[in-house]
Amino acid sequence: MAKYLGPACKLCRREGEKLFLKGEKCFTNKCPMERHPYPPGEHGRTARFRRGRASDYAKQLRAKQRARRIYGVLERQFRRYYEVALQQRGMTGLNLLQILESRLDNVVFRLGYARSRAEARQLVSHGHFTVNGRRVDVPSMLLRPGDVVEVRPESRRRHYFKQILPPWAEKQTPPAWLSRDLNSFSGRVERLPERGEIDSNIDEQLIVEYYSR
Ligand code: SF4
Repeated sequence: MAKYLGPACKLCRREGEKLFLKGEKCFTNKCPMERHPYPPGEHGRTARFRRGRASDYAKQLRAKQRARRIYGVLERQFRRYYEVALQQRGMTGLNLLQILESRLDNVVFRLGYARSRAEARQLVSHGHFTVNGRRVDVPSMLLRPGDVVEVRPESRRRHYFKQILPPWAEKQTPPAWLSRDLNSFSGRVERLPERGEIDSNIDEQLIVEYYSR
Protein backbone atom coordinates (compact mmCIF):
# COMPACT_ATOMS: atom_id res chain seq x y z
CA MET A 1 0.00 0.00 0.00
CA ALA A 2 1.26 3.46 -0.87
CA LYS A 3 2.47 5.84 1.78
CA TYR A 4 3.08 9.56 2.17
CA LEU A 5 6.68 10.38 1.23
CA GLY A 6 6.80 14.12 1.93
CA PRO A 7 8.21 15.94 4.98
CA ALA A 8 6.51 14.79 8.19
CA CYS A 9 7.00 18.01 10.13
CA LYS A 10 5.01 19.97 7.56
CA LEU A 11 2.01 17.86 8.50
CA CYS A 12 2.26 18.95 12.15
CA ARG A 13 2.62 22.57 11.14
CA ARG A 14 -0.39 22.27 8.84
CA GLU A 15 -2.49 20.81 11.66
CA GLY A 16 -1.17 23.41 14.11
CA GLU A 17 -0.17 20.83 16.72
CA LYS A 18 2.47 18.22 17.41
CA LEU A 19 1.47 14.88 15.90
CA PHE A 20 4.64 13.12 17.17
CA LEU A 21 5.51 11.54 13.83
CA LYS A 22 9.30 11.45 14.29
CA GLY A 23 10.05 9.73 17.57
CA GLU A 24 12.76 11.27 19.75
CA LYS A 25 13.12 14.49 17.72
CA CYS A 26 9.54 15.43 18.67
CA PHE A 27 10.63 15.78 22.32
CA THR A 28 13.59 18.07 21.65
CA ASN A 29 13.88 21.74 20.75
CA LYS A 30 14.76 20.68 17.20
CA CYS A 31 11.04 20.13 16.62
CA PRO A 32 9.97 22.64 13.93
CA MET A 33 6.69 23.20 15.78
CA GLU A 34 8.77 24.87 18.50
CA ARG A 35 10.55 27.17 16.07
CA HIS A 36 7.94 27.73 13.33
CA PRO A 37 4.52 27.23 14.91
CA TYR A 38 2.57 28.41 11.88
CA PRO A 39 1.35 26.70 8.68
CA PRO A 40 3.99 25.80 6.07
CA GLY A 41 4.35 27.68 2.82
CA GLU A 42 5.23 31.18 1.68
CA HIS A 43 2.13 32.73 3.27
CA GLY A 44 1.96 30.48 6.32
CA ARG A 45 3.17 33.17 8.72
CA THR A 46 0.46 35.65 7.68
CA ALA A 47 -2.26 33.03 7.07
CA ARG A 48 -2.74 32.44 10.78
CA PHE A 49 -3.76 36.10 11.27
CA ARG A 50 -6.15 36.11 8.32
CA ARG A 51 -8.05 32.99 9.34
CA GLY A 52 -11.65 33.62 10.38
CA ARG A 53 -13.92 31.25 12.27
CA ALA A 54 -13.60 27.77 10.81
CA SER A 55 -16.71 26.36 9.09
CA ASP A 56 -18.19 23.01 10.16
CA TYR A 57 -16.77 21.44 7.03
CA ALA A 58 -13.30 22.80 7.79
CA LYS A 59 -13.43 21.33 11.30
CA GLN A 60 -14.55 17.94 9.97
CA LEU A 61 -11.86 17.95 7.30
CA ARG A 62 -9.12 18.86 9.77
CA ALA A 63 -10.24 16.14 12.20
CA LYS A 64 -10.10 13.55 9.43
CA GLN A 65 -6.73 14.74 8.14
CA ARG A 66 -5.24 14.79 11.64
CA ALA A 67 -6.26 11.17 12.27
CA ARG A 68 -5.02 10.10 8.85
CA ARG A 69 -1.67 11.74 9.44
CA ILE A 70 -1.22 10.37 12.94
CA TYR A 71 -1.71 6.79 11.71
CA GLY A 72 0.06 7.34 8.36
CA VAL A 73 -2.86 6.18 6.24
CA LEU A 74 -3.70 7.59 2.80
CA GLU A 75 -7.19 8.72 1.84
CA ARG A 76 -8.40 5.66 -0.06
CA GLN A 77 -7.47 3.23 2.69
CA PHE A 78 -8.83 5.53 5.37
CA ARG A 79 -12.20 5.72 3.61
CA ARG A 80 -12.19 1.93 3.32
CA TYR A 81 -11.63 1.68 7.08
CA TYR A 82 -14.57 4.02 7.59
CA GLU A 83 -16.79 1.84 5.41
CA VAL A 84 -15.78 -1.26 7.38
CA ALA A 85 -16.44 0.60 10.66
CA LEU A 86 -19.88 1.59 9.37
CA GLN A 87 -20.80 -2.06 8.73
CA GLN A 88 -19.76 -3.13 12.22
CA ARG A 89 -22.02 -3.06 15.26
CA GLY A 90 -21.70 -0.22 17.76
CA MET A 91 -20.45 3.33 17.34
CA THR A 92 -18.87 3.97 13.95
CA GLY A 93 -16.32 6.46 15.31
CA LEU A 94 -15.03 4.07 17.96
CA ASN A 95 -15.01 1.18 15.47
CA LEU A 96 -12.87 3.29 13.13
CA LEU A 97 -10.39 4.12 15.88
CA GLN A 98 -10.19 0.47 16.92
CA ILE A 99 -9.42 -0.53 13.34
CA LEU A 100 -6.64 2.07 13.16
CA GLU A 101 -5.23 0.99 16.52
CA SER A 102 -5.19 -2.67 15.54
CA ARG A 103 -2.92 -2.11 12.54
CA LEU A 104 0.32 -4.04 12.94
CA ASP A 105 2.54 -0.95 12.60
CA ASN A 106 0.56 0.82 15.32
CA VAL A 107 0.75 -2.20 17.64
CA VAL A 108 4.54 -2.40 17.15
CA PHE A 109 4.78 1.31 17.99
CA ARG A 110 2.48 1.02 21.02
CA LEU A 111 4.52 -1.92 22.32
CA GLY A 112 7.59 0.31 22.24
CA TYR A 113 9.40 -1.70 19.54
CA ALA A 114 9.70 1.38 17.32
CA ARG A 115 10.11 5.07 18.07
CA SER A 116 7.37 6.21 15.70
CA ARG A 117 4.67 4.65 13.55
CA ALA A 118 6.73 5.45 10.45
CA GLU A 119 9.69 3.55 11.90
CA ALA A 120 7.38 0.67 12.87
CA ARG A 121 6.07 0.59 9.33
CA GLN A 122 9.57 0.31 7.92
CA LEU A 123 10.65 -2.39 10.39
CA VAL A 124 7.55 -4.44 9.60
CA SER A 125 7.90 -4.08 5.86
CA HIS A 126 11.55 -5.19 6.13
CA GLY A 127 10.32 -8.43 7.71
CA HIS A 128 11.66 -7.99 11.26
CA PHE A 129 8.43 -9.13 12.96
CA THR A 130 6.36 -12.27 13.19
CA VAL A 131 2.66 -12.56 14.03
CA ASN A 132 1.67 -15.85 15.67
CA GLY A 133 5.05 -17.29 14.61
CA ARG A 134 4.76 -16.35 10.93
CA ARG A 135 6.94 -13.70 9.34
CA VAL A 136 4.88 -10.77 8.04
CA ASP A 137 5.78 -7.69 6.03
CA VAL A 138 2.41 -5.95 5.75
CA PRO A 139 2.19 -2.92 8.09
CA SER A 140 -1.56 -2.54 7.52
CA MET A 141 -2.34 -6.07 8.74
CA LEU A 142 -5.16 -5.87 11.30
CA LEU A 143 -4.53 -7.79 14.52
CA ARG A 144 -7.16 -9.44 16.68
CA PRO A 145 -7.26 -10.23 20.40
CA GLY A 146 -4.93 -13.13 21.12
CA ASP A 147 -2.44 -12.32 18.34
CA VAL A 148 1.22 -12.44 19.40
CA VAL A 149 3.79 -10.11 17.82
CA GLU A 150 7.51 -10.90 18.12
CA VAL A 151 10.77 -9.55 16.77
CA ARG A 152 12.28 -12.32 14.62
CA PRO A 153 15.16 -14.12 16.39
CA GLU A 154 17.49 -13.31 13.45
CA SER A 155 16.61 -9.61 13.70
CA ARG A 156 17.31 -9.39 17.46
CA ARG A 157 21.05 -9.56 16.73
CA ARG A 158 20.88 -6.35 14.70
CA HIS A 159 22.42 -3.18 16.09
CA TYR A 160 19.02 -1.48 16.17
CA PHE A 161 17.38 -4.11 18.39
CA LYS A 162 20.49 -4.65 20.53
CA GLN A 163 21.61 -1.06 21.10
CA ILE A 164 19.21 1.59 19.88
CA LEU A 165 15.80 0.24 20.82
CA PRO A 166 16.16 -1.09 24.40
CA PRO A 167 16.56 2.31 26.16
CA TRP A 168 13.55 3.67 24.25
CA ALA A 169 11.39 0.57 24.86
CA GLU A 170 12.13 0.59 28.59
CA LYS A 171 10.76 4.13 28.89
CA GLN A 172 7.51 3.23 27.06
CA THR A 173 4.61 1.67 28.93
CA PRO A 174 2.26 -0.20 26.59
CA PRO A 175 -1.47 0.56 26.95
CA ALA A 176 -3.56 -1.86 29.02
CA TRP A 177 -5.02 -3.59 25.96
CA LEU A 178 -1.53 -4.87 25.06
CA SER A 179 0.89 -6.94 27.11
CA ARG A 180 4.64 -7.02 26.51
CA ASP A 181 7.62 -9.15 27.42
CA LEU A 182 10.77 -7.13 26.75
CA ASN A 183 13.08 -10.10 27.39
CA SER A 184 11.60 -12.10 24.54
CA PHE A 185 10.91 -9.01 22.37
CA SER A 186 7.25 -9.99 22.15
CA GLY A 187 3.81 -8.60 22.83
CA ARG A 188 0.22 -9.74 22.78
CA VAL A 189 -3.07 -8.10 21.87
CA GLU A 190 -5.27 -8.81 24.90
CA ARG A 191 -8.39 -7.06 23.66
CA LEU A 192 -9.52 -4.11 21.52
CA PRO A 193 -8.80 -0.69 23.05
CA GLU A 194 -11.51 1.33 24.76
CA ARG A 195 -12.03 4.98 23.85
CA GLY A 196 -10.18 6.27 26.90
CA GLU A 197 -7.07 4.31 25.86
CA ILE A 198 -6.82 6.02 22.46
CA ASP A 199 -5.38 9.53 21.89
CA SER A 200 -7.96 12.04 23.00
CA ASN A 201 -6.99 14.71 20.45
CA ILE A 202 -8.78 12.78 17.69
CA ASP A 203 -12.44 13.74 17.33
CA GLU A 204 -13.98 10.65 15.74
CA GLN A 205 -17.46 12.20 15.66
CA LEU A 206 -16.24 14.91 13.28
CA ILE A 207 -14.68 12.22 11.07
CA VAL A 208 -17.99 10.36 10.89
CA GLU A 209 -19.76 13.64 10.04
CA TYR A 210 -17.20 14.29 7.31
CA TYR A 211 -17.82 10.96 5.58
CA SER A 212 -21.60 11.00 6.05
CA ARG A 213 -22.10 14.37 4.35
FE1 SF4 B 1 5.84 17.03 14.43
FE2 SF4 B 1 7.76 15.59 15.57
FE3 SF4 B 1 8.32 17.11 13.42
FE4 SF4 B 1 7.82 18.20 15.79
S1 SF4 B 1 9.56 16.89 15.26
S2 SF4 B 1 6.98 18.88 13.85
S3 SF4 B 1 6.23 16.84 16.62
S4 SF4 B 1 6.96 15.32 13.50
